[in-house]
Order: sequence, then structure tokens, then C-alpha cells
Amino acid sequence: SSSGSAEKEKTFAMIKPDGLSGNYTDEIKNAILESGFIILREMTVRLDEDTAGKFYAEHSSRSFFPALVKYMTSGPVLVMVLEKVNAVADWRALIGPTDAQKAKVTHPHSIRAMCGQDLEKNCVHGSDSPQSAEREISFFFEEFSSGAVGSKHDEL
Ligand code: ADP
Ligand code: MG
Repeated sequence: SSSGSAEKEKTFAMIKPDGLSGNYTDEIKNAILESGFIILREMTVRLDEDTAGKFYAEHSSRSFFPALVKYMTSGPVLVMVLEKVNAVADWRALIGPTDAQKAKVTHPHSIRAMCGQDLEKNCVHGSDSPQSAEREISFFFEEFSSGAVGSKHDEL
């Protein structure tokens, strides 16, 4: 369709292992719903090293990559498809900056300020562009995948 700025958009959200183990799920979901997002899909999964590495493939050459994979495989995660107008940018704004320590100072009402700890353990993920959103949604949710790229995940 063609209604421009009123067009709904989907983004991909994840509550990372520290968010789930810290029991922040309800608080995060409340923030999501209060900000006008619809949670279209949700699924709890446990990532293995291969899956976590593929999800974060863009960072595979970074020095923090092994630690990132270890963190992301340390416990279950909750993956979600969110929908609203301007979902990608609005979800990034709601979660706040990558470094949760800095977020507590500069974005005290952000989700990462609320439940994150530092530059690595920042409790949530959000797609950084509509293209990333499409890739990340189809990475986890076969029904949004156009073909052979969808990964298989066992729901917990
Ligand atoms: P974002 O999640 O805000 O999009 P990035 O895409 O840059 O951030 O990084 C992906 C994830 O990798 C971050 O959310 C964080 O968990 C981890 N990370 C990023 N940079 C670092 C770093 N310098 N040291 C340790 N972990 C990092
Ligand atoms: Mg990123």
C-alpha cells in the first residue's frame, strides 16, 4: 500500500539473557505496550554458539565477539516482532544507547538504563535499520521469511 508516513513498520526486539534472568520481562513489555507497539510474535529460545554467531555476524571480526557469543548463549532469550508506525527508530530510541552505564546518565528513562549493566550486558536488542529488521525477523520467525534463509529454532 502507499500511505507513506502512516505506514506501520515491523522491528525485531530481543530480551537478552541478563534481562530474562533479572526478571525484567514484565517491565520491558509494559514499556513496549505503553509506547504504542503491538507485540505481533514472541518466542523464548536458547541460542547455541552457531546461532548467536550468525545473528551477530556483522561483529565477527571484533575483539568483543567471543565474549558477546558467550553472553548471548548464557541463558534463554525472548525474541519478539514489534509493530507500529516508525517502529525501527522508535524501538531504538526506547532502548537507549549501547552502553548501559552511559545510558543511566544520558538516557535515564531508557530500557537499557533500567535493566542493563554495561557496554556488553545491556539487556535488550533492537534492529538498527529496516533492512536489519527484515533480516532479524526472518532469522527467528519462519512465517516472515520469504524462502530458504529462515533458521530453525526449538521453542522452549
Ligand atoms: P547495539 O546492540 O546497540 O546495536 P552493537 O550492534 O554495536 O550495539 O553491538 C552489539 C552488541 O554487542 C551490543 O548490544 C553489546 O551487547 C555488545 N557490544 C558492543 N560493543 C561492545 C564492546 N565494545 N565491548 C563489549 N561488548 C560490546
Ligand atoms: Mg547493533
